[in-house]
Amino acid sequence: MATKRPRPYLWVTWLSRLMAGDTNCEWATWFRTYHKDYDRVPSDFNLAAWRVSHTRLVRETRRRVEGDGKVVLQESQAEFWYESPGGIRLSGSPDLVVIDSDSAIIYDCRTGKHRDADAVQVMIYMYCLPLSHPELAGKKLSGAVVYRQHQVDIPASAINDRWIGDFEFFLDSLESPDPPPTVPSGSECAYCDIAKSECSDRVE
Ligand code: SF4
Repeated sequence: MATKRPRPYLWVTWLSRLMAGDTNCEWATWFRTYHKDYDRVPSDFNLAAWRVSHTRLVRETRRRVEGDGKVVLQESQAEFWYESPGGIRLSGSPDLVVIDSDSAIIYDCRTGKHRDADAVQVMIYMYCLPLSHPELAGKKLSGAVVYRQHQVDIPASAINDRWIGDFEFFLDSLESPDPPPTVPSGSECAYCDIAKSECSDRVE
């Protein structure tokens, strides 16, 4: 059964899916932000195989993009924490950050199909990473989502006032300890790990 977190915690993937509209049930993200150790639906996802495939793509990308004089941060080295005004701790870590003399590129690797949330997640990294990594301050920071067969580049200009306003809007919407309504649907509940014992609206 779920227990309340000592302080609200938000994983970057939950936020990117909410911002991109992949997740319409805001309650699911709100619940995970304020609770841990909740009852989960058993998953048949092959995590070990996914990890091997993902690790390989990260290694291949690193070989392709690193070069003389560049500093590379990989996964846990690039972990960030962002504290929202309302006290939510947002965290995550991109796969690679390649730092040059006056610019840097954030790479995130995806072995699955293309989703808009992938680019949104990289944009969150582009905004939040310089706030917790002083070595990125003042550098022109762009991003890229790397898929097996193609790459989506995100220019530094994508992080503008409008985008920051959208980012703050979604964080702000999660800051209320009062739960938003659930949005149950067969297609979304099928991919949600929150068990019926926690969410009575779950569509089985
Ligand atoms: S099971 Fe369905 S209704 Fe419940 S939190 Fe998940 S997506 Fe929302």
